[in-house]
Amino acid sequence: MIKNDIPHRLSDILERIKTACHHAGRPENSVSLVAVSKFHPVEAVRVALASGQRLFGENRVQEAAGKFPALRADYPDLKLHLIGGLQTNKALEACRIADMIESLDRPALGLALEKAAQKLGRLPELLVQVNLGDEPQKYGVPLKDARQFIEDSLTNFGTHIKGLMAIPPQEEDPVPHFRRLVALAQYYHLPVCSMGMSTDFEAAIAEGATIVRVGSAIFGPRQA
Ligand SMILES: *Cc1c(COP(=O)(O)O)cnc(C)c1O
Repeated sequence: MIKNDIPHRLSDILERIKTACHHAGRPENSVSLVAVSKFHPVEAVRVALASGQRLFGENRVQEAAGKFPALRADYPDLKLHLIGGLQTNKALEACRIADMIESLDRPALGLALEKAAQKLGRLPELLVQVNLGDEPQKYGVPLKDARQFIEDSLTNFGTHIKGLMAIPPQEEDPVPHFRRLVALAQYYHLPVCSMGMSTDFEAAIAEGATIVRVGSAIFGPRQA
């Protein structure tokens, strides 16, 4: 895809978000768009920035660290969410560069983030990632352990825990999964639900998503 398409695709997605909010009877500003720029060069991010987009998502710490810190000089209001499975040995760098980590999914990572926060004196906002389909190969706390883990995370991190994130199983209807995530977030009075990607963000908004993470529909297909 040529870079010139990015502004058009971006404004198209923003328009579709607005429409989905209207259909759901929700305010337009109740949904944030994370533009997922993984595997796309920093030039693509700059095009999106020039179009007004400020919130981005990356799923690898190293790639994000190579692209984003330098952009903050030009765009101080830029926000970066880390949305991929996070290794404990990347926790420090993750805390250094991210505004939000959407993938807190196990006690060992919580511990690593606590240590990193102590060392840096800064802790990003956090979402607990839930493995709604209980898929063994996926990231996210298994559904059966989710309540305990959310409660422990609230004890350890307090108001840094903003909500929940999930990726429904690809081959299934996402709607029941979206509903389950929203119900779980509401149970804990957590304001943020990050769910919905390029193919299903409108359905996610209908169910109550407050963050949608859209990559290929903005930046085009990825290599990997
Ligand atoms: C890549 C990715 C996305 C975006 O996926 P698209 O289908 O390209 O919109 C969203 N969330 C996570 C966690 C991802 O890794």
